[in-house]
This record gives sequence, C-alpha cells and structure tokens, in this order.
Amino acid sequence: MAKVRFTETALRDAHQSLLATRMRTRDMIPIAEEMDNVGYFSVEAWGGATFDTCIRFLNEDPWERLRQLKSEFNKTPIQMLLRGQNLVGYKHYPDDIVTKFVEKSYENGVDVFRIFDALNDIRNMEKAIKVAKDQGAHVQGTISYTISPVHSIDNFVDLAKDLEALDCDSVAIKDMAGLITPSAAYELVSKLKEETDLLVDLHCHCTSGMTPISYYAACQAGVDILDTAISPLAWGTSQPPTESMVAALQGTEFDTGLDLNLLTHIKKYFEDIKEKYHCILDPISESVDADVLLYQIPGGMLSNLISQLKAQGAMDRYEDVLDEMPRVRKDMGYPPLVTPTSQIVGTQAVQNVLAGERYKIVSNEVKDYMKGMYGKPPAPVDEEISNNIINKDEVIDCRPADLIEPEFDKFKAEGEEEGFIESDEDVLTYALYPTVAPKFLMGKAEEEKLCPKVDDDNSVEEDAIPTDYTVDVDGDIFEVRIMPTGFVDPDSEEDAPVVYEEGTVFTSMQGNIIKLSVEVGDKVTAGTPICVLEAMKMENNIEADHDGVVTDILVEPGDAVAVGDGLMVIKDE
Ligand code: MN
Repeated sequence: MAKVRFTETALRDAHQSLLATRMRTRDMIPIAEEMDNVGYFSVEAWGGATFDTCIRFLNEDPWERLRQLKSEFNKTPIQMLLRGQNLVGYKHYPDDIVTKFVEKSYENGVDVFRIFDALNDIRNMEKAIKVAKDQGAHVQGTISYTISPVHSIDNFVDLAKDLEALDCDSVAIKDMAGLITPSAAYELVSKLKEETDLLVDLHCHCTSGMTPISYYAACQAGVDILDTAISPLAWGTSQPPTESMVAALQGTEFDTGLDLNLLTHIKKYFEDIKEKYHCILDPISESVDADVLLYQIPGGMLSNLISQLKAQGAMDRYEDVLDEMPRVRKDMGYPPLVTPTSQIVGTQAVQNVLAGERYKIVSNEVKDYMKGMYGKPPAPVDEEISNNIINKDEVIDCRPADLIEPEFDKFKAEGEEEGFIESDEDVLTYALYPTVAPKFLMGKAEEEKLCPKVDDDNSVEEDAIPTDYTVDVDGDIFEVRIMPTGFVDPDSEEDAPVVYEEGTVFTSMQGNIIKLSVEVGDKVTAGTPICVLEAMKMENNIEADHDGVVTDILVEPGDAVAVGDGLMVIKDE
C-alpha cells in the first residue's frame, strides 16, 4: 500500500455540480498559486460543462481560461473531462474535429485527459485516447459505473483491460450518482489492481451519502487517486471534502501527506466564492438524496423529471414515471444514466406515461439510440419495441463516428466568411456549438448577472435586486421577469382566446418548434411528419392526424407552444 493522491475538482466538477458551472476565471486565478502548492495529483479544471457555460452564460473564451490556468499551475497537472467522441458537447463529432480538439486542448494546457463514454463503448473513446496519447498527455480511460442485471465487476474489469490495451495510463471509476457501495468499491478496485497495471482513480458524487465510506474501502483495496472537492464546494451532488479525507487518512498507510493548514487557507477563499454565488446554490443539491438508493436514478435527473412533468402539467403522474423509468432502461439495454443517456431514458419514460401508450411518441434521439448511433448498448435492446420504432435495416454495427463526414474545413470556411474566426480554437468553438458560438465569437454575448450582494445582516441590498432573471432548469433556459402582484404590462398584447378552425392539428406536448417539415399547399396523409417539436430536450416528429392539404401554418421555428396549441390547418382537398 502506498500513499493516496487526490484530484481536486473545485474548478470543474464541484462548481458544475453545485453552482451550475458558473464560476468565473477571475474567481479561480487568485487562488491558483496556492492550489498549485498543495501537491495534488491533478486539478480538474476544464471540460465537462465548463466549455458550454463559458460561451453561453459567462462571455468567456474557454480556451483563454485554459491558457490562464496553465500559466498559474506550474507544478500541478491540469485535468479535463472529455465525453469521448462527444468531446464537450452532446453529440458525436467527426474524427477530424475530435483530433483537432484534443491536439488544441493539449497545446493550450491540458495535461491529463479523462475520457469516458455514456455506454462504455470503447469505440467512442478510442480516437480521443489515441490522439491524446500521441500528444504525450496522461490519458485516463473511464468506466461509467452503474448497477444493472448486465453490469458486473468482471465486465468493468474487462473494459479496463481494453483501455489498458489502448495505452491508457490510468483508469477512473466514474460513479455519477454515488451508487458504489463500500464492498463494491473494495472489490472493483482490488480486481483492477490485480488484473491491470493501471493507476486506479475513484470519482464519486456524495448524492447517496455512502461515498466517504466507499472511499475508505477503496483505499484499503489499493486505490491510487481519489477525487475530492475543497469543503465549501463538497458534499451533496459534489465530491467528498478534501480536508476531511486528508484528515481521515492522516497517520495511516494511506496518508496523503497534504498540508491541512494550507488547505484550510484555500478553503477560506472558496467560502467567499460560495457566498458570491449564493443565489445559484440549490439547497437540495447539497443534501443527501436517498431516492438514489431506491431508484438508482441520479439526483439531478429526478429534479429534471419533476421540472419536465410540471412543464407538461402532469405532476400527478410522477409515481407512474418513476415506475416506468426502469422499464425503459431495460428496453434500451440498461445504459448507465449519464449525459446524454439519462435525458433519453428519462424523457421516453415521461412520454410513455403521458401518451397513455408506451412508445406512441418516440423522440429522434431514441430512434438513433435504437439504430446504434450512440454506440452499442450494454445489453441488446428490446427487439419488438425496436422493430416498431425503426426499420431493422437501419441498425448499424460499425463505430458510429465512421458514418460522420469530416467537418473542420467546412466550419473554418463558413466562420471565415462570416468574419468571426481568428484561430483554429475559434473554429472548434464554432463547430461544437454552431448555434451559440457565433454570437460569442462576434463579441455580442454578454456576461450573465452575478448574484445580488448579501450584507452582513443577511439582508439583500434593495437596489441590487434585478427584475429580469435567466432561469436554468438543468440546461433548459427560461427568461423570466419578476414584477409586483397586480402589475399590468402596458406592452402586453394579450389577445382573446384563439379560436381554431376545423382541420387544425394540435400539439399534445409543451415545447419549442425547431423545424417545419411541410409548406402551405403540401398534400399530407395521416402519419406524415409535419414539424419537429423539441420537448424535454428531445426532438419529436409531429405527424398529421388526418389526410388533406396544408392550408395554414400557425407556428414558425423558434416558437414555444403549450399543450393544446394549434400547429397547422389541414383541410380536405
Ligand atoms: Mn462527476
């Protein structure tokens, strides 16, 4: 047994889990030098949701953040979380983008790449692993940990062996919901140490409350690295506290040798940071969520479900959805529930319950999943359901990214023509977020307002209260304005209730229209897709419910629609 080393997550996962990933670079830099002196294995400071948040909410260049951090961390490796072929986005990107992104991440300062795939499909990780290795980086392959009838310690160990064969330097056990029990942690870490030569890292969230015990069990099994967060940003949906874990291991064979006085100094800094972001912190995310133990559903996903059901006006179906969720997960071959599979499974469960018929409404993401476009599910998908949703010959068995054409040059040419591209890094930002990035790259984005200041007596400064808020419900953004009761907006143009004519097709879902599939004058039959509606983060084809000709289209892309709104009018010829 040797001493255990720590990866500090304060600058990435901890604020992603507790503060909606909103920490600014200017709040990281002043403490970087002291963090650099601690002696961590690494500081996780980039990737995951930080890239998206930088350009979407903070008006910060994520690449510039990385360069600034790199100039401060001279001794401590900078670590990033990379979603395999999804990079720091939510879909598979072509190999040329993956290659360029990993090369540029290394060049700008990433030393350790933690690379994972939601389905544990190694084909979705291999490109990124190879390119990172070619750069000379430390590559940490990842096991997305979950519990199901088809997941076992042995197949996780097999995955680790495959990662070792790809020349990974270490393996992380990524336990998104803190589901790993002390005995499972002991067994898995022991076997990984026995059967591979990899350094083993355990990364857990505290959601279930078991995590510090599991960390200790992992130490006894010979774990090399534990992920922790400085205490003001620890617990709940974040990692166990760094200082507590250091103290717990002090004087044992696992002693980290880290200086508690220095850590306490760093802790004081982050206490102030936490206060600065007080209005973002949801108390629920700081507490233990025992539902996780019962449903094996990550806490963030449960709160997401609740907000989806509220939006659809169907909170009374909550229990039904909880019952449906494990069935959908089984139908889909027991995927680990992590971005993006958690949304895909959760939303389908909601659709199944609300539609009153299973798989009556199926999102394009579920269809793609059934086709194998996300990779190979851990177990075969339910064949009958799959056959009802998609054609058998649409199923692929190749590596999904083999079907994606190169895109780097296309985005480069487009961005240069528009005049907002100055570097390859800009091209990557644009390629990853083609709808959000142009505004940012053109310098037209604005930094989201910070929380109003809280005085010592805990009262909020009157004039500091903003009335316009951007509300982020697990990634869905709503603009809201708070106004006094009885306030009548003189600009409001509220009309009398809309009267729809005969032949109108209505939506049974609340969401946003993202595309029209027909034009006025088009002939359609019942079942023809007429538009694409994004509901609960998934894209759904809305179909005509009767034959006829489209005589009027009542919505356009970008429109938000509520349950019962008319979409278009289809009349008999
Ligand atoms: Mn995490």
